[in-house]
Formats: sequence, C-alpha cells, structure tokens
Amino acid sequence: MSHQPARRSFLKGRFSRPVVMRPPGAVTEGEFADTCTKCDNCITACPEAIVFRDDEGFPRVDLTKGACTFCGICAQVCTPEAILPTKAWAWRATPKATCLSIQGITCRTCEDQCEQQAIRFRLQTGGRSEPLFDNDLCIGCGACSAACPAGAIDFVQTAPIPSEETRC
Ligand code: SF4
Ligand code: SF4
Ligand code: SF4
Repeated sequence: MSHQPARRSFLKGRFSRPVVMRPPGAVTEGEFADTCTKCDNCITACPEAIVFRDDEGFPRVDLTKGACTFCGICAQVCTPEAILPTKAWAWRATPKATCLSIQGITCRTCEDQCEQQAIRFRLQTGGRSEPLFDNDLCIGCGACSAACPAGAIDFVQTAPIPSEETRC
C-alpha cells in the first residue's frame, strides 16, 4: 500500500494552514489561543462590524465586510490582553486572478477607494489591465477589498508580528 496520500495530507496540514487575520494588535498566533477567552467583546465593540468568530470561536477580521479604521477599540475592550494597543499592522492587499480588470472587464473600484493611492494599473494586451499594489503605501485597511465587486483582493502578511518596541 502506498503512503503517498497520508504524506500529502500531512504536508498540506503542515505548510498550507491559512494564517488567520486577528484584530490589530493581536499577540502572536501561538499566544493568542492561550490568551483569548472567546468573550466576543472585540466582536461586539468593533464600530465597523468587521470582526467575526472563526471556526474555533476566536475573533478574526473580515476585510470584505468593511475597512478597519485602526481605532483600537478592540484592544481597549480585550481584558485578557490578547489584543494590545498598536499602530503596526503587517497585512497588505494583493489582487487575485479573479480581478475583473485582469479578466478584461473595466473596473477601477479598488483604486477609487484607496485613500493611500497605493493602487495603479498596468495595461496589458487584449484590453486587460493588472492592478499593482504598492506595499509601502498600502496600510492594509481593506477599503479596496470591501468595495471589490469580484471579491478579488486578498491580504498577505509582509512582516513578522510587531515587537513590543513598536507598540504604542
Ligand atoms: S481597530 Fe477598530 S475598526 Fe479595526 S478591528 Fe479593531 S475595533 Fe474594528
Ligand atoms: S476581546 Fe480579547 S479575549 Fe475577548 S474575544 Fe476578543 S481577543 Fe478574545
Ligand atoms: S488595503 Fe487600504 S491602503 Fe491598501 S490598497 Fe486597499 S484601500 Fe489602499
């Protein structure tokens, strides 16, 4: 009997586990599960209503539902200090292949929403154009993602979790 399927599933679990977007200022993922009591305070307090329970009951931010204003209210209401006050946020926007503009359908919705002017378009053949996101200008707010009619904007972490020195 071949052991390939079991090995494949092991590798998938080891390397493909998605990184969950916790509220700004969340402690490292390893610490988070031990610190968060699943009280839901951050979920109910978020004025933008962008924090939801994940499959395990921990809070996760969904930037397709709205933009984060980095108000810090989630950190203020987190008594166990699973979320700490911070100005750092390592997530940055990136387009998916399902982007309408990449498919040749005219759309500049994300660019219109980006106050940081972090998005520009590079023309391609066949009437298509590719959105380019400038990681240095993007603050990961999610305004583009919330407005995208195709749900075609993803977020990636571009830096490690901030150290204590960068917290405010
Ligand atoms: S910083 Fe403010 S807007 Fe962002 S997730 Fe926390 S409470 Fe919501
Ligand atoms: S307020 Fe803190 S302890 Fe409560 S659910 Fe949110 S992160 Fe967890
Ligand atoms: S996440 Fe915010 S700053 Fe970044 S590209 Fe989207 S709208 Fe602009």
